Amino acid sequence: MSQRTFVIIKPDAVRRGLVGEVLSRYEAKGLTIVAMEHRTIDASQADEHYAEHVEQPWYPPLRDFVTSGPLVAAILEGDEAIEVVRLINGATDGRKAAPGTIRGDLSLSNRENLVHGSDSPESAEREIKLWFPSL
Ligand code: ADP
Ligand code: MG
Repeated sequence: MSQRTFVIIKPDAVRRGLVGEVLSRYEAKGLTIVAMEHRTIDASQADEHYAEHVEQPWYPPLRDFVTSGPLVAAILEGDEAIEVVRLINGATDGRKAAPGTIRGDLSLSNRENLVHGSDSPESAEREIKLWFPSL
């Protein structure tokens, strides 16, 4: 069943010139790009996106990181897209993510881990509304 998920190619990936590398992995898998925008977010937008994490001790540096420069926000579509994107992204901590995943191949950090993908249908719906209200 075709499904939509929300993805961020985070500021570390943009700075490192990895946008094409990351997108090509999603496209090669067969996912379709439904919407995509290069943008820079402020602290309040970061707080809305990461509402479930704002009380974490590691949240303030995460907020600084995600607002530190441009990112690429996108909606991807395909069969079981939410789970498929999470598998392609790999575990949160790039140092422990499996080789073959984006984080496992390209990140050595649990904060600067290149990508975000919605973790459930409810999160995908919430995040798509938040980032692309017209879609
Ligand atoms: P994921 O992005 O894999 O869904 P989480 O939702 O748990 O991971 O966390 C959101 C983001 O917060 C992570 O992608 C990462 O950038 C950052 N993060 C998570 N845990 C930590 C941590 N222990 N220390 C620093 N940053 C973290
Ligand atoms: Mg998450």
